[in-house]
Amino acid sequence: MSMRQKPIGELRFSDLRVHYGTGRPVLISGTGRNKKFRYRHGMMTDLGGLEIYEWKSLLNALIEHHGEQEIQQQLRQWSRAECRWLHSEDEVEEYALSLHAARIFEDPAWAGYVPFNRQHRPEILETAKLVWIKTSCCPKAGQITEKQMEKAVYMDYRIRCPHCGRFGDFHVCTPEELQEEKEI
Ligand SMILES: [Zn+2]
Repeated sequence: MSMRQKPIGELRFSDLRVHYGTGRPVLISGTGRNKKFRYRHGMMTDLGGLEIYEWKSLLNALIEHHGEQEIQQQLRQWSRAECRWLHSEDEVEEYALSLHAARIFEDPAWAGYVPFNRQHRPEILETAKLVWIKTSCCPKAGQITEKQMEKAVYMDYRIRCPHCGRFGDFHVCTPEELQEEKEI
């Protein structure tokens, strides 16, 4: 069955999650030495390989179906500001859509979980499991998720600093340190 025939009500974000980008040359015209190709860019998903325009339009339709256009805009803003390796608006759009398909904003392991949700969906953080830490680069205490801390334990206790984004050492704040923070 073609994915385009799947009713939008049955389509899930996980169906459109990107496993990896795909690309292959497609013959446009000619034979023998005169063959002309263009490069076809696509995404491998649970629905199979989709051409980029197909993936984008399915995902945009799904985002609209769930009334999440605002989150998509926020993810674009985020990608534009935080991801320096994205150069064009097309790249920003594609990246933000791939984050949306992965529902990254619901994943406590995501490095942007605390700052993104604090800015856009603060209610999420009310029930999130958070830990106060201090890094060696910045003097202020900051919050990460328990999931991020579990991950950091496997990475020699190094974490992305919640203030400046640098990778470095950290420790969990003692109750005394937190008390001091509150008094400042
Ligand atoms: Zn720092």
